[in-house]
Amino acid sequence: MKLIDGKAVAEEIKIHWKQEVIEYKNKSGRVPHLAAILVGDNAASESYVGNKVKSCAQVGFQSTLIKMESDVTEEELLDEIEKLNNDQDIDGFIVQLPLPKHIDEVKVILAIDYKKDVDGFHPVNFGRMAQGLPCYLPATPYGITLLLERYNIETSGKHVVVVGRSNIVGTPISILLSRKSPAGDATVTLTHSRTKNISIIVSRADIVISAIGIPNFITEDMIKEGAVVIDVGINRIEDETMAKGSRLVGDVDFNRVKNKCSFITPVPGGVGPMTVMGLLLNTFKSAKKEIYS
Ligand code: NAD
Repeated sequence: MKLIDGKAVAEEIKIHWKQEVIEYKNKSGRVPHLAAILVGDNAASESYVGNKVKSCAQVGFQSTLIKMESDVTEEELLDEIEKLNNDQDIDGFIVQLPLPKHIDEVKVILAIDYKKDVDGFHPVNFGRMAQGLPCYLPATPYGITLLLERYNIETSGKHVVVVGRSNIVGTPISILLSRKSPAGDATVTLTHSRTKNISIIVSRADIVISAIGIPNFITEDMIKEGAVVIDVGINRIEDETMAKGSRLVGDVDFNRVKNKCSFITPVPGGVGPMTVMGLLLNTFKSAKKEIYS
């Protein structure tokens, strides 16, 4: 088994980019600028946004964090989005999900100018992705394809089983991997909570991608000998041996599955850091006007 070390790959990319960002700055007189809106005090969201801001600093990007109270109105949030849409200095921005229940996430995503939608959630980017047109790829699926490429994992002609059909991971990664493209050309089965005989379907996969948010859902008996396992799930479970009394795990029973597969991503340190890289790469593309003018 080989570990797919997303943390190390993200560090390599950051080092490589530092020079590119300097060159961009020398040419344009500015640096790429990412903004993030964080609503409320969800600890996981704070930590994800914190990592994004930290990574911006590491590659020489500017970042702006806008914190809003959990009782902010939908209108106030939409106003803030409109300001960022019109701010010439911001190349791209994200609204960290999930949002408090009184705010309509779809309305929020639709309000973001798709030219600044560096998370790749807007239907314009999603539709363009599905048709293979230039767009901002959704950050997590983008990060997964970067990892597959970095580890020379062949996807062409392989059977990929995706578990989970969210708009931000499961559905877009299933489209990306089935497209006619590098890190594509796979035969993809998309499974979800209504899928029957999911264990049997997963056990036929050359590549398994799990994004459901249930610890230990993917067990050793579901994995074909030599399969590639990409664990997107991030779940906090109780663990009294840890100082915090808890730790993060994925959807995969890592300790057992690792003996059976050829490649596996750990949690933490697998897909998570590459999601941030996907986001930063989109921001850099926006600054350079590579996708939209
Ligand atoms: P979600 O929470 O919106 O949806 C979960 C999906 O899992 C649904 O499509 C549902 O059909 C499916 N599902 C639920 N129970 C199932 C079951 N028993 N069998 C089969 N399918 C089932 O999904 P999400 O937002 O993509 O998040 C999934 C996980 O990935 C969460 O743990 C989340 O924290 C994590 N995540 C990680 C990253 C990262 O960068 N590593 C990014 C996004 C999400």
